[in-house]
Amino acid sequence: MITLDDVTLTFPDGDSRVTAVDHVSLAAPAGVVTGITGPSGSGKSSLLAVAGTLIRPDSGHVWVGDVDAAALSAHEATALRRERIGIVFQQSNLLPSLTARDQLLVMAELGGDGRRRRAAVRERADALLAEVGLADQAHKRPAQLSGGQRQRVSIARALGTGPSVLPVDEPTSALDQERGAEIMDLVARLTHERGTATLLVTHDLVHRDTLDALVTVVDGRVVEPALRPA
Ligand code: ADP
Ligand code: MG
Repeated sequence: MITLDDVTLTFPDGDSRVTAVDHVSLAAPAGVVTGITGPSGSGKSSLLAVAGTLIRPDSGHVWVGDVDAAALSAHEATALRRERIGIVFQQSNLLPSLTARDQLLVMAELGGDGRRRRAAVRERADALLAEVGLADQAHKRPAQLSGGQRQRVSIARALGTGPSVLPVDEPTSALDQERGAEIMDLVARLTHERGTATLLVTHDLVHRDTLDALVTVVDGRVVEPALRPA
């Protein structure tokens, strides 16, 4: 469960500041895909960055369970993020020289698993790849994978630490409708099976049936309460 309570985020903009997130309150329950939609520039990615504890808001609270991420130091936020949050960025940010399996191992190393447990970590990486439907692609580098497969590797990487919160930014924006629908179905299945509180940003609503709830933002503000898609 992640709850944003009266969150405001501004950025410097010339001589003044632009308000990217404007007094937003929303709750994303565990095991639910909460969609965030709205026009380009409406603050969706900013909202996700706050929920992912990548950016501390100017004001408000970001409750991850019973921890207020908005009150943490950068160092503490990093530790929280590593333990509890799995972010899937809009661009997959995969390292070109690494195989799918090694993309996941890098995260495990950063997470402190170390060399001693390398075999166990490798086994876990392969289990994660199988979970996203890439059991037979573990040895391939990003350039050898399709856009949809790269997105799956990013999702597997985000799941590596067993997060309770899963912020996902525009996962279908570079995919055709069929591949997009497959990725949406995958995110929904993983959310329901693993019980993650998933926040999924999407600006087009062709896939809205896959969402369990939907929040619309315009100019940084929530313009309607979360509702079940039709
Ligand atoms: P969306 O994801 O809905 O397209 P963003 O969250 O990217 O919207 O942007 C919301 C607003 O915040 C825009 O006006 C954008 O220009 C501004 N913004 C976003 N990130 C930054 C940044 N790092 N520095 C300055 N302004 C930013
Ligand atoms: Mg965006």
